[in-house]
Amino acid sequence: MTKFRFFLMLLVIIFSNVDVQAAGCGCGCRGGGGWHGYAPIDDWHALQKANRRFIKNPKYIQQRKETVNGQNPAYVVLSCADSRTPPELIFNQGLGKIFCPRVAGNTAGDQVIDSIAFAVDTWDVTTVVVMGHEDCGAVIGALDRLRINGGVVDPENGVLNAVLIPIEKAIVAAGIDIYGPNALAEATIANVAYAANQLIIKSPSIANAIRSGQIIIVGSVYSLRTGKAEQIFIIDSL
Ligand SMILES: [Zn+2]
Repeated sequence: MTKFRFFLMLLVIIFSNVDVQAAGCGCGCRGGGGWHGYAPIDDWHALQKANRRFIKNPKYIQQRKETVNGQNPAYVVLSCADSRTPPELIFNQGLGKIFCPRVAGNTAGDQVIDSIAFAVDTWDVTTVVVMGHEDCGAVIGALDRLRINGGVVDPENGVLNAVLIPIEKAIVAAGIDIYGPNALAEATIANVAYAANQLIIKSPSIANAIRSGQIIIVGSVYSLRTGKAEQIFIIDSL
């Protein structure tokens, strides 16, 4: 293919994208992203516009003034990276209030544990919330893979191991009936409990902070439908 023909093809692709953008996809999605036709650069420009609104918002101007010289959050929330579960919105908190590690499936891997231990050691943290949520894709994926593997955690067989294996271990450790009608709800709670336990058994800082009465760990499951962060358990002593 000559360079000129390649350039023409590129133009066709670019302009066909523009057409789709103008028309909208009509599928009920956000109207952009991926193959629905919005170019990534357009979405980035939309984010930049939104950032300019954030910059000018008097509420956040004030909050930035109050926190620019440091933070001392009372809360840590380990939550899923799911776009529907932002702790700052769910708990109605502004800048500087929640130290917030987020990862798909709200699991407690080494980086998450060290981040939370650092927060507990450094600031006046009192409350560590491990928050799962309804219809979590990571928990669904872990359950699906366990079913395929006959209920056995198989690190050699599958993808997304770093995300899914800890959830599978949580489900197996809790003895959940992966074929039962409540498997997803039970697995979601088991995954929250497992992550909370990982924080305690792998971080002396976190364990000691519970023993000394500095912090409690709260297990919670967030409802996508109602917006409620339901309390499942509290660990306030060891
Ligand atoms: Zn999730």
